Amino acid sequence: MSAQPATGSHDLLIRKARLLDRDDICDIAIAGGRIVDIAAHIGGAAARTVDAQGGLVTASFIDPHFHLDKVLSRNYVGAISYQEAFARAREAKRNFTVADVEARVCRALDLAVAQGIGRIRTQVDVDFATRLVSLEGVLRAQERFHNLIDLEIVAFPQEGIVTDPEAPALLRAALGMGATLVGGLPEFEHSLEDQRTHVRTIFDIATERGVPIDFHCDYTDLAPYKTLEMVADMTVERGYQGKVTAGHCCALAVYPDEEAKRVIDKVRAADMSVTILPIANLQMLGGDGATPVNRGSSRAKELLAAGVNVCAGADNMFDIWFRFNRMDPVDTAYMTCLSTGMRSDAEVREAFDMTTSRPARLMGLADHRAGIGGRADLVVHSAANLVDMFRNLPGRRVHIKNGRLVGGVEGSVWTAR
Ligand SMILES: [Zn+2]
Repeated sequence: MSAQPATGSHDLLIRKARLLDRDDICDIAIAGGRIVDIAAHIGGAAARTVDAQGGLVTASFIDPHFHLDKVLSRNYVGAISYQEAFARAREAKRNFTVADVEARVCRALDLAVAQGIGRIRTQVDVDFATRLVSLEGVLRAQERFHNLIDLEIVAFPQEGIVTDPEAPALLRAALGMGATLVGGLPEFEHSLEDQRTHVRTIFDIATERGVPIDFHCDYTDLAPYKTLEMVADMTVERGYQGKVTAGHCCALAVYPDEEAKRVIDKVRAADMSVTILPIANLQMLGGDGATPVNRGSSRAKELLAAGVNVCAGADNMFDIWFRFNRMDPVDTAYMTCLSTGMRSDAEVREAFDMTTSRPARLMGLADHRAGIGGRADLVVHSAANLVDMFRNLPGRRVHIKNGRLVGGVEGSVWTAR
């Protein structure tokens, strides 16, 4: 694909594009940050033209669950086991400075924008160890990437609520500084009663400020963990249906089938969304030294079948929790297929939607779609279909944000043949 400046009535013309819901090759016209026309051939010139060369054009990627504040921080503590993670993460966090968080987040966002991520819902630790330092660093990076990528910030009490009495006041302060959601981690508490207090306190803060909630639930393969059910119950009790997301929900996969169905029905009745984190959880869940059976991706298929909006995010990159990742949502979609057993064409499409249209629905972005009237937040791929995209062939991408080219990837290989 290539882009040339010219002059004309549209801001941007994408020529020879393929869309997921159309069989033919078409042109896409963009003006005022919107898609204004899609047709077999659109005449005239534009201020700028991108030749898609028959590649797919899709809505840009949205990551519904990522920890930007901790990104690229693994070097602070070296290689460790899961068991050591909490204590060592706390130690690392104490060393964070605003400038250091800002610099690491900027490096991650450069990758994200290049790969075609238009929006990230990022969890940011707000607790006694980092206080508001991590948040300030993320806010500075957000300012630097204004117009390139949108961030939704979740104030996340990683050190608990009962176990960290400073957390409630810090969460309220974070919501006044730029966080627009509150998070939670009830399983971190030491007793069921403390878990309930944790969930109740988060709902108190959310209802007081009128913000949605994005909980971490049951990041474990131990069946006794039931914080997803606890959150679903309280969502209905508080009348907060449609405003609550639960991430991970790994324990759901190890409940007996009948038990899992009962919890899924509650999640559906609470109109909750669920975010799976297949890349991180494939590595971190289960096995205890042996090959894991639980793949860490909750019960994505059963949740979808029940009508739950299930999204897929990347969670971490080179931090205490996960040592790999390169901010490519195609990896997330691909790993979703592998970890959840999505094999048919329709399921491959579903896995892709879990990184684009489903998180858009989670965030209330009705116009995030590659159709007339949709926002011009798009990715032009060199792959002509999703399977080739997931194969991640020496792929090229152009990322368009609000009708403007903001980043891209140029892939190439060479041999001596
Ligand atoms: Zn997380």
